[in-house]
Amino acid sequence: MSAVVQSASTEAEENLTDGFNLIIDALKLNGLNTIYGVPGIPITDFGRMAQAAGIRVLSFRHEQNAGYAASIAGFLTKKPGVCLTVSAPGFLNGLTALAHATTNCFPMILISGSSEREIVDLQQGDYEEMDQLAIAKPLCKAAFRVLHAADIGIGVARAIRAAVSGRPGGVYLDLPAKLFGQVMNADAGKKSLVKVIDAAPAQIPSPDSIKRALEVLKSAKKPLIILGKGASYAQADDAVRAFVEKTGAPFLPMSMAKGLLPDTHPQCAGAARSTVLKDADVVLLIGARLNWLLSHGKGKAWGDAPKKFIQIDIEPKEMDSNVEIVAPVVGDIGSCVTALLNGMGGNWPAASADWIKAVTTKRDDNIAKMAPKLMNNNVPMDYHGALGVLRTIVKERPDAILVNEGANTLDLARGIIDMYQPRKRIDVGTWGIMGIGMGYAIAAAIETGKPVLCVEGDSAFGFSGMEVETICRYKLPVCIVIFNNDGIYRGTDVNASGSSDPAPTVFVKGARYDKMMEAFGGVGVNATSPDELKRAVNAAMDSGKPTLINAVLDPAAGSESGRIGNLNPQSKLKKK
Ligand code: ADP
Ligand code: MG
Repeated sequence: MSAVVQSASTEAEENLTDGFNLIIDALKLNGLNTIYGVPGIPITDFGRMAQAAGIRVLSFRHEQNAGYAASIAGFLTKKPGVCLTVSAPGFLNGLTALAHATTNCFPMILISGSSEREIVDLQQGDYEEMDQLAIAKPLCKAAFRVLHAADIGIGVARAIRAAVSGRPGGVYLDLPAKLFGQVMNADAGKKSLVKVIDAAPAQIPSPDSIKRALEVLKSAKKPLIILGKGASYAQADDAVRAFVEKTGAPFLPMSMAKGLLPDTHPQCAGAARSTVLKDADVVLLIGARLNWLLSHGKGKAWGDAPKKFIQIDIEPKEMDSNVEIVAPVVGDIGSCVTALLNGMGGNWPAASADWIKAVTTKRDDNIAKMAPKLMNNNVPMDYHGALGVLRTIVKERPDAILVNEGANTLDLARGIIDMYQPRKRIDVGTWGIMGIGMGYAIAAAIETGKPVLCVEGDSAFGFSGMEVETICRYKLPVCIVIFNNDGIYRGTDVNASGSSDPAPTVFVKGARYDKMMEAFGGVGVNATSPDELKRAVNAAMDSGKPTLINAVLDPAAGSESGRIGNLNPQSKLKKK
């Protein structure tokens, strides 16, 4: 229902509404009941009014973190996550997250207040002047500006549709300050709102594409299925599982697809990654792109054996992006996988026993090799000792959400911590960025109501660390574990110049991040052994209290850039 503003000046009393109320009504009408943002001119009152109208408004300390929260809310719910910012600098801070959402195919709407068009367009120097719409355009899927209160309904509807239909992505919605106070007749305002019907329509694959894909899959001697975060996003969990099991093929989950089928599933080839990539003859991609994370589908990682690729994706332009796709299947994952299942009929041939044996042998060997390392109780801790503990905790608490960022902390945790349920692991995504941690943790707690475990490198945590105040303020069940090795990659670098400045990659030695949490009333723990770590995490998960555990790691533990050190350019002229 529109809130009604009484006009004092008109003789005949008319029921009025305004921009503030129409934006709130438009969001609520479309089930967008949570806003992540930072208040300020010109959206401060909007935040208050939205909260009063029953929208959950979460105020952050920096827009980038609010934006990351909105982006992952989109991934977790299939509804666009909403981020609200002030003009120019706030908008720019939110823009990184908007670009991140677009790159990762997460639906999100960045709503920013902006200065007045007349002044911006004549470049006359307004408060926080910036042509925000023009700047946002290349970084998102779509960008819109609303100038008239009567167009708010349509503007919000277009933003929602653009964010969630087809390949999901980020949308920018520009709302100039003047719009908020614009008044119009309340009945006309109500009529102008649009409830978006079927925002992300099913996209049914063509029968030919299904037939073609099944023929290729049937011809495989060494099939492999790769599950990407598009498959997690699709929420077609039962169909995906039934399909993978019916093929009998080994599957490899990309990082945020872990848990779609449990990592302990007999067909999971996570621990035999290099073998399956090299030796497979038919590879079926489900919601995963052949980008850098899969070595572009060619080169050393993929070996010399010829391969045929089948790809399921909602975005037709994704096909042939890096290598030839012999069987493109374009459509939404739920519809595509269901069509494949139906097409397989009753007597689909079992996968080759030799292939399955080769893969499982390799996998079981690798797991057995890793096992003793994970049980060490060394002090100072190394990555394996600390992660061995967290691995057991996640096994015992499979419905907790795991947030993970860092370099070594990311690469090792991804491999070591098994996931058991869909959409429980959220991490640095397509760009491999640092800084998503606290925003993701907050949105995960808000959107799912589940406990959240954040496994953070000390460097990664620094990008969003101030949001521990936000976590305490909203009393969220978030447990942050900081793998503190005193620096970026390691804490042992020395300054080659001999001056007193520290090396560029090291931080304050022996820093106590746990004290940050205590400053805001949360629980802080300094853990120096795997046993202490285990006790502290279990206590945090049981209590649901905001907790930060400073896990003291050996400063010498860790390698340059984790597993992607090869991407660093090297100077051949470097002084010895
Ligand atoms: P990962 O990094 O896990 O490999 P990517 O982000 O590279 O995953 O790939 C996800 C892919 O999933 C994108 O190409 C995107 O178009 C696709 N996608 C997202 N949602 C759907 C959906 N509902 N149906 C089909 N494809 C989808
Ligand atoms: Mg570190």
